[in-house]
Amino acid sequence: MKAQPHASHFIGGEWVEDTAGRPFDVIFPATGEVIARLHEATPAIIDRALASAKAAQAGWAALRPVERGRVLRRAADLIRDRNADLSVLEVLDTGKPIQETEVADWPSGADALEYFGGLAPTVTGETVPLGTDFAYSLREPLGVCVGIGAWNYPSQIACWKAAPALAMGNAMVFKPSEVTPLGALQLAALLVEAGAPAGLFNVVQGFGDVGAQLVTDSRVAKVSLTGSVPTGRKVYAAAAEGIRHVTMELGGKSPLIVFPDADIDSAVGAAMLGNFYSSGQICSNGTRVFVHHSIKEVFLDRLKARSEAIVMGDPLDPATQMGPLVSAAQAEKVRAYVDKAVAEGARLVTGGAGQGMFVPPTVFADVTDTMTLACEEVFGPVMAVLDFEEEDEVIARANATEFGLAAGVFTADITRAHRVVGRLQAGTCWINAYNLTPVESSFGGVKMSGVGRENGKAAIEHYTQLKSVYVGMGPVDAPF
Ligand code: NAD
Repeated sequence: MKAQPHASHFIGGEWVEDTAGRPFDVIFPATGEVIARLHEATPAIIDRALASAKAAQAGWAALRPVERGRVLRRAADLIRDRNADLSVLEVLDTGKPIQETEVADWPSGADALEYFGGLAPTVTGETVPLGTDFAYSLREPLGVCVGIGAWNYPSQIACWKAAPALAMGNAMVFKPSEVTPLGALQLAALLVEAGAPAGLFNVVQGFGDVGAQLVTDSRVAKVSLTGSVPTGRKVYAAAAEGIRHVTMELGGKSPLIVFPDADIDSAVGAAMLGNFYSSGQICSNGTRVFVHHSIKEVFLDRLKARSEAIVMGDPLDPATQMGPLVSAAQAEKVRAYVDKAVAEGARLVTGGAGQGMFVPPTVFADVTDTMTLACEEVFGPVMAVLDFEEEDEVIARANATEFGLAAGVFTADITRAHRVVGRLQAGTCWINAYNLTPVESSFGGVKMSGVGRENGKAAIEHYTQLKSVYVGMGPVDAPF
């Protein structure tokens, strides 16, 4: 098997196997080949991982922040040195094309480790003058954090959660998606090589029930989930039992609004990026593309021509621009949405069902707000183009969803751009751009799309807690 790791889990600084756990296969989506066979974590493995994290955390938190930062930055350097091999592994795990994984997956993980490594020494409390007395605040780590990942950006998600957590002095037990379990194991080994103490970052494998056991353990102070809204609801509720901190990065059905004065080629390019990159398996995708009626036909013509030129095929071939979906189950789910869109009267402009795990870039026009395609997250390369006439109308329609992850606006009118963005209910917005998520800028959702933020300085607040310290400088004036 091409991608068999040394063992299923990485705990306490070492590879750990426990064949008592339920076995499961890792599939290369492009061929259906089994590339690794792992075992789900048993309760004993889960306990060992949490105990390791707990044991490592206090010593790590006691280090100077600059020392913690140095470890993370070394890990970032190791990732960049090995990006070529890591990117191939990411292709095998996810089916995404190598031309994407080489620039978007591990590299953005390395960015997060470098950014939060650099940020760690700058995080301080404040002094509060109170006459002769004073108070000060300390920003302290939370303790043991649990990270649970989705399958669409498995290594990036592991890094985006590990980097701020570890930078702020926490330890982590991470459970990758059972669909893409390989990348996080590499991160765990790399962190140890970079100087992280054994047990600081542990990886355990398994399905939702392993995640559920982690979330409710009394040693856990915080849970950060990237996943769907239904899972988010369950994990948030389970975490609430223990009053645990949470970050929820959930799904979306984001609007991308193209006004008539927009640069049409840029807007078409953004709509394609926001629907076809990673075969459309991106939470923040602009899957409801609202195009002003006056430019609709020219927009669709250019979109169709460029979509049909996309090179699909073997994701390990550097010329391939789009690979398969992550699994047969996901391909079937996406196909069902394509069929439903046709049945509900949307106009198929290009694409369609595809074959096996491959679904081609697909565009539907004349989509209306109540069609299933405009309401539900498809998580595949299926774009819905909707018409609009007026600014107020399109803002109201863009906001008429339970989700609120992201939104985009294309216009040459700067006043309109800021006015519209100001009224959109979304945690992350783009003006004349789409789906760029640099680590320097915070990312996350409103409404059902989540709570908390990843990336940027905002993430610090989600991996620390404040302690206020009052300092009495004079005799205590008691009335008793
Ligand atoms: P999912 O919700 O099925 O699973 C996510 C993770 O949660 C997996 O590791 C799974 O094993 C685990 N899990 C499932 N049930 C659980 C439970 N009861 N307790 C604890 N853990 C449990 O999501 P998915 O299909 O892997 O990923 C796709 C979804 O993720 C999409 O909805 C997408 O929008 C979302 N996503 C969001 C972001 C973001 O940053 N907002 C990023 C990527 C993906």
